[in-house]
Amino acid sequence: MENMTALITGAGSGIGFGVAQSLAEKGANIIITDINDEAVLSAQQKLADKGLTVQGFKLDVTNEQDLENLLAALADTRVDILVNNAGIQHVSRLEDFPMQVWQKIVDVLLTGPARTCKAFMPQMRENGFGRIINIGSIHGLVASPFKSAYVAAKHGLIGFSKVIALETSDTDITINTVCPAYVKTPLVEKQIKDQAQQHGISEEDVINKIMLEPMPKKSFIDIEEICATVCFLASKEARNMTGQALVLDGGWTVK
Ligand code: NAD
Repeated sequence: MENMTALITGAGSGIGFGVAQSLAEKGANIIITDINDEAVLSAQQKLADKGLTVQGFKLDVTNEQDLENLLAALADTRVDILVNNAGIQHVSRLEDFPMQVWQKIVDVLLTGPARTCKAFMPQMRENGFGRIINIGSIHGLVASPFKSAYVAAKHGLIGFSKVIALETSDTDITINTVCPAYVKTPLVEKQIKDQAQQHGISEEDVINKIMLEPMPKKSFIDIEEICATVCFLASKEARNMTGQALVLDGGWTVK
């Protein structure tokens, strides 16, 4: 990954932070971005404590001005690897789902990656190289109740990526979507609480009877598994893998 620069959205926490650390350890120059400035600073500090120096910027993927400011601040920095990771969730049956929240989820999870791709693809095209990796979800392929906005947006992300794969097929740019089942991050910790409330059951039952139930391997996905997949997709050797959904689901979708 030496001489490569990777920009990760939503890298202040969870999977995005793990991916940033992993790519930094492999020698890439890292640009951490997140809507939460404090999370950016704290992520930078945690990586600095490990001897990894990374740049950090505030970026709300729903805010075009933020994106313009970021492009201006990066000036001549070439972004080779774009990881669209920023995410939010809201768990509620559609009848009770606030439409503003529904739209926000689609804006972050689907329109957000379209915005960042649009911003960074011209320079990738100019350099003749680019790797775009979306952190999708198993909910890009299957549904669960109470997650209509999230499931719709993650399904849309896979469709969006197929189109961009075709539009970039004339150059060494690829776009792929990593689709993990549940990973224990702050986003899922909150869901465990919310689902317990929705279903009127204990948090332990949410983990065993809802989250791990459809996974034959009965285990959460580790961030390091996602990082290894992202690192492969970011490599030069993955140049003919594009428009794909790579599934890490403990066997969920083979049943
Ligand atoms: P997380 O909550 O730990 O991290 C998400 C990060 O995104 C946070 O730092 C948050 O500040 C940031 N963010 C939120 N809105 C943003 C915005 N508008 N602009 C920029 N940053 C924003 O969650 P996570 O579990 O690490 O999720 C990361 C990605 O992985 C998401 O796309 C999520 O859908 C996906 N995912 C997670 C799981 C899981 O089980 N945790 C499973 C499948 C897919």
